[in-house]
Amino acid sequence: MVKTLHHYIGGQRVEGTSGRYGDVFNPATGELSARVPLASADEASRAVAVADKAFATWRDTPPLHRARVLFRFKALLDQHLEELAELVSAEHGKVISDARGSVIRGMEVVEFACGAPHLLKGGFSENVGTNVDSHSMRQPLGVCVGITPFNFPAMVPMWMFPLSIVCGNTFILKTSEKVPSTALRLAELLSEAGLPDGVLNVLNGDREAVDTLLTHPGVAAVSFVGSTPIAEHIYQTASSHGKRVQALGGAKNHMVVMPDADMDQAADALIGAAYGSAGERCMAISVAVAVGDQTADALVERLAPRVENLRIGPGTDPAAEMGPLVTGEHRDRVKDYVDLGVAEGARLLVDGRDRTIDGHENGFFLGGCLFDRVSTDMRIYQEEIFGPVLCVVRVPDFETALRMVNDHELGNGTAIFTRDGDTARTYASRVQVGMVGINVPIPVPMAFHSFGGWKRSLFGDIHVHGMEGIHFYTKLKTITSRWPQGIRSGADFHMPIMK
Ligand code: NAD
Repeated sequence: MVKTLHHYIGGQRVEGTSGRYGDVFNPATGELSARVPLASADEASRAVAVADKAFATWRDTPPLHRARVLFRFKALLDQHLEELAELVSAEHGKVISDARGSVIRGMEVVEFACGAPHLLKGGFSENVGTNVDSHSMRQPLGVCVGITPFNFPAMVPMWMFPLSIVCGNTFILKTSEKVPSTALRLAELLSEAGLPDGVLNVLNGDREAVDTLLTHPGVAAVSFVGSTPIAEHIYQTASSHGKRVQALGGAKNHMVVMPDADMDQAADALIGAAYGSAGERCMAISVAVAVGDQTADALVERLAPRVENLRIGPGTDPAAEMGPLVTGEHRDRVKDYVDLGVAEGARLLVDGRDRTIDGHENGFFLGGCLFDRVSTDMRIYQEEIFGPVLCVVRVPDFETALRMVNDHELGNGTAIFTRDGDTARTYASRVQVGMVGINVPIPVPMAFHSFGGWKRSLFGDIHVHGMEGIHFYTKLKTITSRWPQGIRSGADFHMPIMK
């Protein structure tokens, strides 16, 4: 019997009433594991009303108290780490060590959010004029919404809601309908930590729920992470309805390998960054830019046998390096891209299309695929594939490599591998990409820095978490006051200048 999931609204499980459901799979077996309710517009509006009611009290709860709830939440996350990692792996498919790491990266944002009393401190200037002082403070926005992708069921929601609620907002999380269970569990743990009912709500749904939230007058701000076409839709719709929006989109991350790089180190980095999490990471490296044919030959010679021999298996197998893809539909889409690459004339050095796993014949598995001699006019170069497929592009020199990365419409992350500080510094300075690694293949910023891409990888101006996150979820107010009140200076008709 397949279980039916629920929403989590106002501090309790709420059955779906729309009559519409989505399928949730175990990607390692291909079996249906749950049905998830897809909220109607009415249900989405009811969630906004609940969050709005909770905001009235939560906004006035001292930041120290709000932070203490998050301290208790963090302690519960420590206790439940394995359970959460298993939930992530069971619905997404990623191997358990990777799932655990992704939960920990989310927990680091909770740790950062625990510093709210300090982070929300305003500024004060005494005597900006005679007997006139000025102070500024950051106030919450109201009801905020988060819409998250399938590939990080715990981490990406935790990029958003801990900071949003610690700033005094209430939150509606519209988690990915492909991986709904982890977010529901996180919300229960927050209730257990003492979060008042209605401050964090989890609503399951698809476009109907999302579009209701984007246009609802009761919603103040929207954080989105997902693919570029949807990010653009979210940004345009929500901002035209007067909301503050940050919408993070897709990626095509290049790793430039210079001839002077340590080739063994570069190959290790590429294997992990291209095939970890089956390539379903927005910071995965999907293009290796080899500077010079010798570099390309040295890389390909090291990569091919390792891609061929990747240990692929269910997330629960501790020896597995790579799990299945999230759904059969997504696996087929990635496979189609590999077919396309062959048709476009790229050289397929390792073909993982027919890989099956003993005992898991119906799982959504795909072997690692490696293309050489990919060119920039090919769609497999231009488009995000989001699977275990690495494209090697050969370029003659550094300038061509840099120009190529800058000409790509996406600009989430990039890396350069070199022993030369001058080259690395020039690359970091001139590349048009939001997050850059120097001999670091996946440069995901820590929680106290901010995460976000450039170009069509981010719509909006403000990155997530770190101080940018605090700024996104608060409005700045500046107050100028004169004491003692009794001093009279007469009426001024000119622009006030401080005397
Ligand atoms: P997606 O864009 O299909 O879905 C993301 C969210 O949007 C989900 O909650 C989904 O229900 C909702 N959604 C989907 N279609 C919609 C529509 N037409 N209208 C309104 N809402 C809609 O993304 P995905 O497949 O779940 O995730 C993979 C994508 O996310 C990749 O492109 C990946 O690069 C990107 N991603 C980006 C980052 C980043 O930080 N930039 C991080 C993780 C994932």
